[in-house]
Amino acid sequence: MIMRLKELYLKSPEFIRKTVRLIPFQYRMGRTFRNTLQFLIESDMWSHDEYHAYQERELARLLNYAIRHIPYYSRYRRLLGGKPFDMLRGIEPITKKDMQRDLDLFVLPEKERGRYHIAYTGGSSGYPLRMYFDNYATGIEWAFMIAQWMRAGYKLGDTRAAFRGIEFKDNCASIIRDNPVYDEVLLSPFHLTDESLEKYVAALKRFKPKFLRGYPSALTVLAKYILQTGVENLPRFEALLCGSESYTDDQRVLLEKAFNTRFFSWYGMTEKVVLAGECEFSIYYHAFPQYGITEIQDKNGNVSSEIGVEGEIVGTGFMNRVMPFIRYRLDDYSQIIADHCEKCGRNHLILGKVTGHRVQDAIIGYSGSRISMTALNMHDETFASVRQFQFHQREPGKVSLNLRVDSHFDDEKRSLIIKSLRQKTGDDIDYDIKLVDRIDSTGIGKGVYLQQEIPIE
Ligand SMILES: [Zn+2]
Repeated sequence: MIMRLKELYLKSPEFIRKTVRLIPFQYRMGRTFRNTLQFLIESDMWSHDEYHAYQERELARLLNYAIRHIPYYSRYRRLLGGKPFDMLRGIEPITKKDMQRDLDLFVLPEKERGRYHIAYTGGSSGYPLRMYFDNYATGIEWAFMIAQWMRAGYKLGDTRAAFRGIEFKDNCASIIRDNPVYDEVLLSPFHLTDESLEKYVAALKRFKPKFLRGYPSALTVLAKYILQTGVENLPRFEALLCGSESYTDDQRVLLEKAFNTRFFSWYGMTEKVVLAGECEFSIYYHAFPQYGITEIQDKNGNVSSEIGVEGEIVGTGFMNRVMPFIRYRLDDYSQIIADHCEKCGRNHLILGKVTGHRVQDAIIGYSGSRISMTALNMHDETFASVRQFQFHQREPGKVSLNLRVDSHFDDEKRSLIIKSLRQKTGDDIDYDIKLVDRIDSTGIGKGVYLQQEIPIE
């Protein structure tokens, strides 16, 4: 429903677009959305046994279907009819590269597909994966997202302003756009000059959204602008909604200070295999048991959901039939620290901090070592006069640091930056600082901090 509505909406004239607002959000989003959200509300506080029974049913459905219909999984025919979790344990974890190599084997044959759409993993990774989704997956995904935001005070129909990349990728004619289908005003993460930031602040004051959503990197640029220029009378946001990108503890502090509200984040991905968000009282990620199976592969290759296990996150998503992701290795790393949250009482697996090992998150030293961007903590006083920065790397050991600075920036501050970076990376990296008037983002608006041109996996 939502896919068709979106197509119609894009083709319709302005006055029809405006009337979209008159239809309540839950009806605009379609029946699948409404049913899923209702189910999520009802099952939010289920017991471990209830979740286990639900997951067994979903796994049985998913695995029996995949083995019978998806070419790659026919090799697991011997597992058919087994107990669902035993079947899952019989399936070897798989990487994005494995799937990319023989993509057709992982997709339902065309004549059996029904209505589907195609999406890609974030363009900034350098290795985008082509993915097929049932159209109804969009409504399901939105229901999970809303259920999660409800923990931060979100109510159906609440308005948002959002930094989102995709809408601006091919057409940058305007940097602020109305998107009434999703109750959003969109701001372009590609335009973060002072001139644009001033326009965003004016738009926020005019539109008064209840929530501000976006990549932490883009929100940080806006936050610094607000603090440094002393913007007043910002609307009171109920929360900042931040997904899709890792962030540092300093960033959380900075953002909560600038916007005077709660920073609420979650861990998810385009492949839709794991979704884990903070709760009302805790900043640890709670993995939705209704979304799929969350497991971790330890350094010896054992995969489990046991408390204490540490390693690579492995996800099995329940919602996609056209191209199921089963025991899919995410190249993100974490630890399962509990099987419930003591503060909110949800019986969800609780994940510790998630660290990504994706290419865009690291710079490469002369020695070939990978230095995580999270390790280069860029939010202390060293960067006080820096409005925005971006690392740019073309060859190992050499990194350009582009800075957009304010009028207080001087040679002393420049030396301080080089010195503190060198303290972290020693002789492994040479830095070259360039002062610039504007900084461009890459891909879909992520990767604002780093343009990594070295292809490594
Ligand atoms: Zn909790």
